[in-house]
Amino acid sequence: MDNRGILTVVSGFSGAGKGTLMKRLLEKYDTYSLSISATTRAPREGEEHGREYFFHSKEEFEELISQDALIEYAQYVENYYGTPRSYVEEQLQAGRNVILEIEIQGAMKIKEKIPEALLVFVTPPTVEELERRLTGRGTETAQVIADRLARAGEEAEGMGQYDYILVNDTVEECVDHLHQIIVSEHSRASRNAEFIADIQKQTKAFQK
Ligand code: 5GP
Repeated sequence: MDNRGILTVVSGFSGAGKGTLMKRLLEKYDTYSLSISATTRAPREGEEHGREYFFHSKEEFEELISQDALIEYAQYVENYYGTPRSYVEEQLQAGRNVILEIEIQGAMKIKEKIPEALLVFVTPPTVEELERRLTGRGTETAQVIADRLARAGEEAEGMGQYDYILVNDTVEECVDHLHQIIVSEHSRASRNAEFIADIQKQTKAFQK
């Protein structure tokens, strides 16, 4: 069977719990590599260069674009975010499943450039729950919460473009479900063209 890794794009509403989900997926299963994006936004408290993001100036980021060093990039709330190409290609080649946690414009670019990529959209079970999670953080002002909910409206418009909708009810179940989806994806006939051709060639020999 094909032993190249699968490139999975994970997007979802702010407040859908993607961060926790990715962290748990990587802890629980050892076939995953999480791509670290480049960005021009300033590091938040506790974030480190090379761990959460590669933090760059606008000029440095534009240099990465001109060198074609990013598979995709997008502008999100006045900052650039992009996926470094070399890490993703190396990891896939080595048979690792690579996860990109990126927003929807980037996801659409990946789908266009790499049609075999798997696109997963993470959502809380209901909009009431999304509202509760955003409010429940307790750290945001009413305005910030209202802005995020308004953005959820825009993000929801693209949900139908994804291959799978993943409901994040409880983290453990959701992580296992995501893993099952990716494991099943490895068995897709279109990902195993060489294996199929090989079996066909060998069985052909039995025909009279
Ligand atoms: P934050 O600033 O909160 O870390 O991220 C803001 C948004 O940018 C999130 O939706 C995140 O998924 C997205 N993002 C992070 N890295 C990338 C990337 O490399 N490309 C794209 N298109 N979006 C990204």
